[in-house]
Amino acid sequence: MGSVWVIGSLNVDLVSRVYRFPAPGETVLGRGMQRLPGGKGANQAVAAAAAGAVVRMIGRVGDDAAGAEYLAALADRGVDVSGIRIEPNCPTGHAMILLDQSGENCIVVIPGANGQVGLEDLDSFRPSCGDVVLLQLEVPTEVIAAAVAAGNAAKATLVLNLSPYVELPPELVRGCDVVVVNEHEAAQLRATGIEPRSLVVTLGAGGARWECDRQAESAAGQAVEVVDTTGAGDAFAGALAAALALGERHRVALRSAVAAGAAAVGHFGAQRWTF
Ligand code: ADP
Repeated sequence: MGSVWVIGSLNVDLVSRVYRFPAPGETVLGRGMQRLPGGKGANQAVAAAAAGAVVRMIGRVGDDAAGAEYLAALADRGVDVSGIRIEPNCPTGHAMILLDQSGENCIVVIPGANGQVGLEDLDSFRPSCGDVVLLQLEVPTEVIAAAVAAGNAAKATLVLNLSPYVELPPELVRGCDVVVVNEHEAAQLRATGIEPRSLVVTLGAGGARWECDRQAESAAGQAVEVVDTTGAGDAFAGALAAALALGERHRVALRSAVAAGAAAVGHFGAQRWTF
């Protein structure tokens, strides 16, 4: 059984509800405030650990209370946080999220320590054959590129969640074994003409499809009551990586990822706990 290495972001999401969004220069009152764990890297690491994998995360938090709290919470959830550095004089990544009455959102992302993740963070990255390396695009691309090179050299399985979508060099995308995208990201990727070695497309309530060598495997969606779709794609990617590290076949891995995505839309926030 291999481990899952996650190299990615950790954010604290501050969520408040407003009657309407403020105009420039205006102040409005927010109703309530929730502090929720987020960041695609941490969301996926927690999902992979919940799916039974040994998970090691590499990333950075700031030297603030939020960072310390987040590290402790991740460790409680079974994630090895020894590869997460504490960046001095820097805030932990935050996202400030306003929700209006119609459910529309307005978001400010402060990358903070996530933007400081650098090649030196890969000192503790020692993947081996059978491990899965799970990547997203909320840390600098040069780190992702170096992780792909090191992961391939070690014959690990590389899973890249191409989100939030950024156009990457074709050789970087093709250097990964599995590229995971939602339907919007799939359209953006197709427009570039880049063909990954294998592509997993998540289809919201419709489940997911795995395209490999002109063959496709599908897993139907699961009917669930939707509370909040935040983090559904992250739950999917984390569970998929865990299943691959545990040696499951594509079909079984796809089904368990769809089940994890469906479970994630049934609760508020990306992870199952709040600060
Ligand atoms: P993203 O959250 O990245 O936009 P999707 O919306 O495709 O990605 O959702 C990822 C996965 O979460 C889907 O493959 C599915 O398993 C699950 N999921 C998302 N929305 C629903 C829904 N309304 N009902 C059931 N499952 C869902």
